[in-house]
Amino acid sequence: MILFKHSLDLQSYLDKKHKSHNKIGFVPTMGALHPGHISLIANSKKECDVTVCSIYVNPVQFNNPEDFKKYPITLEADILLLEKTNCEILFIPTEQEIYPDKAFMEKHYDLAFLEKVFEGSFRPGHFQGVCMVMDRLLHIVQPTHLYLGQKDYQQTLVIKKLVADMGMNILIRVVPTLREKNGLAMSSRNTRLTVDEKELASSLYKSLKRIQKKLLNGDTIDMVEREKVYLQKLGFHVDYLGITNTRLEEPKKIPGNTERVILIAAYLNNVRLIDNVLIPS
Ligand code: AMP
Repeated sequence: MILFKHSLDLQSYLDKKHKSHNKIGFVPTMGALHPGHISLIANSKKECDVTVCSIYVNPVQFNNPEDFKKYPITLEADILLLEKTNCEILFIPTEQEIYPDKAFMEKHYDLAFLEKVFEGSFRPGHFQGVCMVMDRLLHIVQPTHLYLGQKDYQQTLVIKKLVADMGMNILIRVVPTLREKNGLAMSSRNTRLTVDEKELASSLYKSLKRIQKKLLNGDTIDMVEREKVYLQKLGFHVDYLGITNTRLEEPKKIPGNTERVILIAAYLNNVRLIDNVLIPS
């Protein structure tokens, strides 16, 4: 694996790959890598000639400074894991590389209703920060393929819109969420949970699956309220639990015969967890 710290070095290396019409797969991450991240790398390796992984904990997407301070950093273990996966390139830029000019941090992205619902309404400014870093990273790497996890469902929609609005020709692949045996969605933030909390945290997925099953059986929606109360009794602070269409439009309406998604965000002892499942049409 080749490790780059400077965008100009990475760009001149990738230039040759672009000129030979190589497929360049990109997996942007914030590190503390786990098998979920690795499945994105594996998908890229299957489809592309070169896979670039980036590790950058992007300060401007953290609406909560405590969360940023506590974000796990495990760079040595990450490098070993990426080596084992035969990832070709790792990009670990400094803040200066990503935001050399203050103007980058002052850009505004039109995300329409996407930054007002679900994650958007509970994490003001978060998706603007995601767009800032993705704008920079995508222009540096110029990938042909981009791999994102379904775990961050709303983020996949935001990044698809960003890529379309920037007129970039990138194939976006959304990779299914990798889970622990008990169903808990793998996440870097899970390292902040105790063993017992990890067991309890799997209740989120179990609630999603119960709602999904009921909906597939044609049952109505008071299920959502019941599951919310149940999770609160277990000790979760639920930011939202809701069902909507796959574009996240009209979150209060529940279209019956289209593909839908159930989304949840909840705190367990100050650790914020998100998850989702799709309901096929
Ligand atoms: P992060 O490091 O949390 O910014 O995540 C980097 C990428 O990995 C994002 O596209 C995430 O959606 C994806 N990802 C995170 N957790 C999982 C998971 N459990 N399964 C699949 N992809 C994931």
